[in-house]
This record gives sequence, structure tokens and C-alpha cells, in this order.
Amino acid sequence: MQIPTLTIPSVAIEGSDERFPVRRIFCVGQNYADHAREMGSNPEREAPFFFSKPADAVVENGSVLAFPPRTQDLHHEVELVIALGAGGADISVGDALDSVFGWAVGIDFTRRDLQAAAKKAGRPWDMAKGFDQSAPVSAIRRGAVPAAGAITLSVDGAVRQTGDLSDMIWNVSEIIATLSTYVRLAPGDLIFTGTPAGVGPVQPGQAVIAEVLDKRLEVSFPG
Ligand code: MN
Repeated sequence: MQIPTLTIPSVAIEGSDERFPVRRIFCVGQNYADHAREMGSNPEREAPFFFSKPADAVVENGSVLAFPPRTQDLHHEVELVIALGAGGADISVGDALDSVFGWAVGIDFTRRDLQAAAKKAGRPWDMAKGFDQSAPVSAIRRGAVPAAGAITLSVDGAVRQTGDLSDMIWNVSEIIATLSTYVRLAPGDLIFTGTPAGVGPVQPGQAVIAEVLDKRLEVSFPG
């Protein structure tokens, strides 16, 4: 048997034929107070916590996704996504934005039933969060990350999630700085920065539209 040549997952870059190669995908948990409350947590400013998804969980804008197996409760989470063009360890809050290549809108799809079972048993979240096609990401816009502005998600035209980027408990600089104390960040890393309240189930046959400011991401599931 011959091992096939592997391709590096990548994301489109707005207004360019170049692609952004995805090295790793990190995600922040419960970074909006109203979502922390709806998940039964206390939204005090405890240190941010992180989990990850495989790089090849990324999916292009406009994709029709296979409905994932092993769940009766697939949830949507709209998130601002940061794309890193530089990295390092122990990055200071003041220097953090220098590592940013650009930003995008993403969906952190979650098998909520598996996550609830994992939480209850004190087990890892990997199979709840890091499944195939669990990380749709729009084309990346180069440049500074917006610190405020609308973040919304709708399912079949009905608005489910609304928030503002300024409501993040930990801002982008703080997220990068803290994450860089756990791992040496590198070009190609994506960081999902958490979701506002209103997470809920998606069914086969439904279409999901996620927006951050004027950037839009649309995916759907076959009926
Ligand atoms: Mn999330």
C-alpha cells in the first residue's frame, strides 16, 4: 500500500487567489457572558479555557455538509475567527495583534449531546467538538480585527443568535496572549473566539447563515 500525498487544509483569502494554509484550530469556551449563563456556568472573568479541532475540520463557505453521525442534538455556534500570520510563545497582550493576519466568520458545530455526556463523566470534548466538517470558515479578510459590531446566526431565515463582538469576556489580544502561554502559536493557526447566546439545534435539510459585521458564511445540510 502506498501512502497518499496529504494536502494541507486551507481557507480562501478575500480578494485573492492565494489560500490561507490551516495549521491548527483552537477554540475558546464560553467567552460571552450570556452564552456562559445559558450553558449553566458563571460568567465571571475566570481565565479563558481552550479546546481544539483538527485542521481538516475546516469547510468552505457555501458547502453542503454531510449531517454528522452519532448525534441527536447538533448545535450551531457563530464565532469570530482569527487567522494568525505570525506566532510565538508568551506573547504579551500589547504585542498580540501583531501576529494577526486577518479575520473571518466561522461556525463551531457541536454535538451537544456528546458534550453534555463528556462533561458529566469528566471526559474529553474531542468527539463533541472535533468531528469531520465541524468548522466552516468564511474567506479570510486581511487586516485588523474588529473589536465591536454585530455577530448573528440564522437557521432557515429565523434569527437564532445575536450579539456584539464588544461583549466578549476576553478580547482578541487577551485570547492570543493567554493561548500562547499554553502552546507556541504559529502562522496558519485559526482561533475561534467564542459564541454569543442563542445556540440551538440544526436539523437535516436546514440552511445556516452566520454573519460578523458584513462578512457572511452560509452552509446547509441535505434533507
Ligand atoms: Mn464555540
